[in-house]
Amino acid sequence: MSDSYEDLERKLVEMRAGYAEHLPSRIEKLSAQWQRLKSLPGHMEEKEAVIRETHNLAGTGESFGFSKVSKVSRELEQVLNKLWKSGDDEQLEIAKGLFLQLAHYGSQDADVESMAVPIMNPKVVGKNWSADKSNRILLVEDGKDFADELLLHLEYFGYEIALLNSPENLAEKVRELSPAVIIMDIMFPSGKDAGLEAVSQLKMGLQAVPPVIFLSERDDIKARLAAVRAGGAAYYQKPTDLYQLTETLDRITTPQEEFPYRILVVDDDITYAEQTVLELKRAGMEALCITDPMKVNLSLAEFRPELILMDLHMPQCSGIELAAVIRQQPTYLGMPIVFLSADVDVKNHLEALRQGGDDFLVKPIAADHLVTAVYARARRARQLKAAMVRDSLTGLLNHRNIGEQLGRDIARSKRSGNPVTYALVDLDNFKQVNDTYGHGVGDQVLVAVSRLLRKRFRNTDTLGRYGGEEFAIIMPDTNIDQAEDILNDVREKFALIQHSSDKGSFRLTFSAGISAFPACETPSMLVKAADEALYWAKEKGRNRVRKAEVCNKDEKKG
Ligand code: GH3
Ligand code: MG
Ligand code: MG
Repeated sequence: MSDSYEDLERKLVEMRAGYAEHLPSRIEKLSAQWQRLKSLPGHMEEKEAVIRETHNLAGTGESFGFSKVSKVSRELEQVLNKLWKSGDDEQLEIAKGLFLQLAHYGSQDADVESMAVPIMNPKVVGKNWSADKSNRILLVEDGKDFADELLLHLEYFGYEIALLNSPENLAEKVRELSPAVIIMDIMFPSGKDAGLEAVSQLKMGLQAVPPVIFLSERDDIKARLAAVRAGGAAYYQKPTDLYQLTETLDRITTPQEEFPYRILVVDDDITYAEQTVLELKRAGMEALCITDPMKVNLSLAEFRPELILMDLHMPQCSGIELAAVIRQQPTYLGMPIVFLSADVDVKNHLEALRQGGDDFLVKPIAADHLVTAVYARARRARQLKAAMVRDSLTGLLNHRNIGEQLGRDIARSKRSGNPVTYALVDLDNFKQVNDTYGHGVGDQVLVAVSRLLRKRFRNTDTLGRYGGEEFAIIMPDTNIDQAEDILNDVREKFALIQHSSDKGSFRLTFSAGISAFPACETPSMLVKAADEALYWAKEKGRNRVRKAEVCNKDEKKG
């Protein structure tokens, strides 16, 4: 009985996770459709599609706990109906505002976690395929030991694997499962080119064929050439470096979607402002213009631009004054501001730069020049920001920023009443890895651990590199017992993984200490309690997860 309940629960959790994961791209797509449609008459079909999607968002959002998305979508649906069906043009401005709000909720940095109901980590489960096919791999391999090792490794990194031990029913399996990638052995009992032939045949069929990675003992040019001709995405000789293979899989299965740069244009000349916005959008950026500088703060908060393109002379206040106002606010201290003006007086340019402008562009400026200049500066700004908050080796948040995030998550918890769990993970006897296999191998292990954590935890969890071989994980909406289960699961699987080096392969374990809000009330209490628990885990023999003493008591009461 309890099993089937758990199954349901797990499916629900998976569905919620899937919904949350796809929400930003759904909203983005909808906004793009709206942008295309807004200025065009006719196009009834597309308009209906937009209305339908707002309708869907309104309905499903609520049932998945995203009530804000749901509310805005419902309003939007009504407004669009009035705008397009009854021709009530006054609704246009309202619609614009609602789209902006929706985009905000769906944007990459939006506070999605505070909108969502608590969900637990979705787990990879046997052949109960999750709806998301992007992690689904079809492995065609006759060597049982190698297949087992690969299976363990890939499942550990969050992939779901179907195993075929001969290429015979390949087409049928591909149709049935639509895997994201096929990993194909080359030599089978039926022939030393059997894998290559099967893939070539598959490509001659009608169906779309996913990328194929060939794995083989063979290293001859003939096999490699045939693999290229069969359209192989990669070729690895056995024994295969599984980390490298995983990295290739990650690259193939994760779409490289760079979120468009968000540019705010402040210019009192509406025609010019709108035209600039159009040019930026055509170049794939997200852009918004305001003509009233007094509204800049609202746009900063709502639109969250990554760069401001600002006119120098405006009737209400000068661009220089406005830049100073923006920079007065600590949050926007680092906001790149590029002035755009017809003013040719170099003295004024210098003054603008002195007052905190980052650059100066002179009107008139050719559209492509403007676009290139803005794009380059926005990219640079994003890189700088990323470098400031991320650890360079692992790409995880650095010490300071994980602390800040912890503060934000606690504040959010105080409002929502949900717990937050904090974990400190420390690799066991890591010094020996460096001493035995070299610092480079040690680094490689740290990168592998960080990738692993990223795969295993939710998008709403925060991962950081706390120190050398210590990692911190913040899990909002997760109580300490749930977190303990999750970490134990990761710990057990991690211990099975083979790390390879040219001096041989080895296994590694980690210990973790966990603490939770509200038993610990402040970030520093959480960190201290987790640290003490970690110390105990080490004392008791390592390779274990330990709950902080204060939280233990708390749990027993409940
Ligand atoms: P314990 O189980 O008690 O945690 O033992 P340990 O050896 O892991 O702990 P200890 O704190 O004694 O040593 C940590 C080692 O981690 C020492 C240091 O050389 C290594 N380390 C820290 N940062 C890095 C890094 O960026 N790269 C590499 N390769 N090693 C690092
Ligand atoms: Mg250690
Ligand atoms: Mg340590």
